[in-house]
Amino acid sequence: MYPDWTRFSVWKDVSEEEFGHHSWQDRNSITRIKQLRAALDVVAAPEVIQDIEDGLTHVGMSIRLTPYVMNLIDWSNAISDPIRSQFLPMRSEQEEDHPCLRVDSLEEQDRSPVPSLVHRYPDKVLFLVTAVCPVYCQFCTRSYAVGQSTDLVQKEQVTSTRNWPAALDYIRRTPEVEDVVISGGDLARLKPANVFELGNALLDIEHVRRFRFATKALAVEPMKFLTDQEWVDALTAVVDRGRTMFKDVVLHTHFNHPDEVTPVVEQAMRLLHSRGVFVRNQTVLLRGVNNDALTLKTLIKRLSRVNIHPYYVYVCDMVKGTEHFRLPIAEAQSLEKEVRGVTAGFNTPLFIVDTPTGKRDVHSAEFHNDEFGVSAFRSPNVDASRLCYYFDPVRSLSSEARLAWGSEHARERILDERIEPDLARA
Ligand code: SF4
Repeated sequence: MYPDWTRFSVWKDVSEEEFGHHSWQDRNSITRIKQLRAALDVVAAPEVIQDIEDGLTHVGMSIRLTPYVMNLIDWSNAISDPIRSQFLPMRSEQEEDHPCLRVDSLEEQDRSPVPSLVHRYPDKVLFLVTAVCPVYCQFCTRSYAVGQSTDLVQKEQVTSTRNWPAALDYIRRTPEVEDVVISGGDLARLKPANVFELGNALLDIEHVRRFRFATKALAVEPMKFLTDQEWVDALTAVVDRGRTMFKDVVLHTHFNHPDEVTPVVEQAMRLLHSRGVFVRNQTVLLRGVNNDALTLKTLIKRLSRVNIHPYYVYVCDMVKGTEHFRLPIAEAQSLEKEVRGVTAGFNTPLFIVDTPTGKRDVHSAEFHNDEFGVSAFRSPNVDASRLCYYFDPVRSLSSEARLAWGSEHARERILDERIEPDLARA
């Protein structure tokens, strides 16, 4: 069921039963450099370990990794391994952040009517129920709040169960809210009683017609679904009650590479499918992980094979220390064209740029400036008056443009003096 975990000296005496249990995975997750060094001592080259240690001093996300994920990584090819790079950055691969980077790139804190809630779309809210996850992804859009503070990012305290009553009250008194995304953070870190309480509180609000529980556990700790009976029962009780009320309650998850769809993921999905839980996937498009059509097509096929619906492919947002993952918009557009048609339309993900005023199709830019790699998107249903920008990575531009972006006050000089006048004429 699992690759041989006893190759790690720290887990050499661990039985399959222990390794396959969520509580053992939680207790033995790597959260400190010292633990990482001990776990890698015989499987990774010393220069790889050092490169990762150096990389972890230049990130916005703290480290947390399940032994299950550590064991999916091919440590003999660590430099190019697509799973390693998502969680354990190497200093040698990191690039300078784009000068337009803003922590909280989607401006979620500005759109928060009460703590823990983001109200960006007219009929939908995002409910941030926890700040912890089973793993921490380096490119997490919510790096401003999720995980522990790092040298680069001090985390905002926006999630707490103490905020839940006020957040639920806001939803109750806002009848246009039909749709709730319960995220954070990760549902898998909530106690079963909290999943049950929260799900039922939302179902009890008449105008809430649908909600999605977000968890990456299916990809990074799939045994959670096989060994945490109480938690799965709480989840399915909410889904079942929703069905009797003619309301839609589904699970959203996050796979980025076909190698993450393992036999134990299939087992977990067989259980969820038998319980009537529908699962959608949201992938992040990451350079060096999945930015080629074959990898994306294989991912889509493997997800579909285990009844996970490939819903979105997000172009990677700007997050501190992760510029090396980002792609020019033209590459995302080209990948979308190559992927579309490989399977049925309903089973093909939408390729999306996320902006402070909402998600936009990668092909729907109002304007693109090739010289400085700037695309402008408008979201008429959220804020028709505002244009939001996507910035291509500086590495993809000419040497003159790279120099311009590297100069002092580059944002003002390029956006205010060059791009916005062009836009006004367009
Ligand atoms: S699992 Fe989701 S919320 Fe948690 S760190 Fe990864 S991207 Fe962020």
